[in-house]
Amino acid sequence: MKPFVVPATAKSWVDVAANSDFPIQNLPFGLAAPKGRDETMVVAIGDYALDLLILLDNGLIPESEFPLLESFIDMDREKLSALRQWVFGLLTVDDPRLRDNKTVWKKALIPIADANLQVPIPPVAFVDFYSGVHHARNVGQMFRPQGDPLLPNYKWIPIGYNGRANTVVVSGTEIIRPRVQTKAPDVEEPAWGPSRELDFELEMGYYIGTGSEMGRRVTVTKAEEHMLGLVLVNDWSARDGQRWEYQPLGPFLAKSFATTISPWIVTLDALAPFRIEGMDQDPTPLPHLTRTPNSHFDIELRVSLQSAKMKKPQTIAKSNMKHLYWSIAQQVAHQTSNGTPLDMGDLYATGTISGEGQDEAGSMLELSWKGDRPIKLDETGESRTFLEDGDTVILEGWGQGDGFRVGFGQASGKVKSVTK
Ligand code: MN
Repeated sequence: MKPFVVPATAKSWVDVAANSDFPIQNLPFGLAAPKGRDETMVVAIGDYALDLLILLDNGLIPESEFPLLESFIDMDREKLSALRQWVFGLLTVDDPRLRDNKTVWKKALIPIADANLQVPIPPVAFVDFYSGVHHARNVGQMFRPQGDPLLPNYKWIPIGYNGRANTVVVSGTEIIRPRVQTKAPDVEEPAWGPSRELDFELEMGYYIGTGSEMGRRVTVTKAEEHMLGLVLVNDWSARDGQRWEYQPLGPFLAKSFATTISPWIVTLDALAPFRIEGMDQDPTPLPHLTRTPNSHFDIELRVSLQSAKMKKPQTIAKSNMKHLYWSIAQQVAHQTSNGTPLDMGDLYATGTISGEGQDEAGSMLELSWKGDRPIKLDETGESRTFLEDGDTVILEGWGQGDGFRVGFGQASGKVKSVTK
């Protein structure tokens, strides 16, 4: 599929700030439930969410091609790409159709703050991979200091687990501290109570549009055709619970209580300018996992933390999506290689994306090196090893173009004390 790439020089008649995540080069899709209106697909432009149902009702989107814009149910990658191209036509500076129809655009352009953005597609399944190689190495060093930090399977298999889909929440949703079973090394028996090592994980995710048939695999070459686009993912984790429960079957309750995603699906078309080759894979993967050219992405990532006492957030980590060992196409090819089908609305996450430096880690576990090296919060002098009640964690990400950025908005969540 040839991507529709908006030229770097293109401009919209809608005012867009120079540092906006949502210039006309991006045009990501979301699901809004604005007060007093029907749920509708929206496209972000500058500070606005453009209501596509209103455009449809006013004949500015052809009903013959796009009859259903109440949700993503009718969408696949190709159709979403065509819809994005159509919306680009309506928003481009020289096009009068919407620009000169003030009655319609006054209604259709909703300030993002008023759009009441939802989880764009309530996922049917949630799978979390472990493809951030520096994260895997850091965790290996902490928990298996004697051995090789990477387990022998790491460079042969994109490691992952099936997570919990019905706790995927949209940015802004408060996260209740989970109760977990833990066991301290110096006591005889485990205990159950509020997690004392609540953590975030900086990840990217992608939604599946077109499903596949049970018993048939999806090849690396075809994998991206099944994707609608990417979102930011915070895979909240209770480390104390995880340590006690994870052997031999992997994460369970330490991960399943909540996962926060950003509300905008950024299309692979919009991300085309940020494609890169990615890091070398050595040993060469098995033939059915052979990597395709330019299947990685140069996406800057940031994590900020704001405690209840702070007035503004502090950046605590910088990373980049290029630190993935396995591409998202290889992940899908692996996941379906045994004949497991893909379904419309499946959400896949990449695994925690850490860089190599101390301040490039995608979790508190690594930033504080399992609690040995507390993070200083400059504004208030507080320090953190893991998350406290009242802390807000904000993930951000963007591809930096020539004079524009294609951003994801935020995936933010505030930690609430455990409920009685
Ligand atoms: Mn994870």
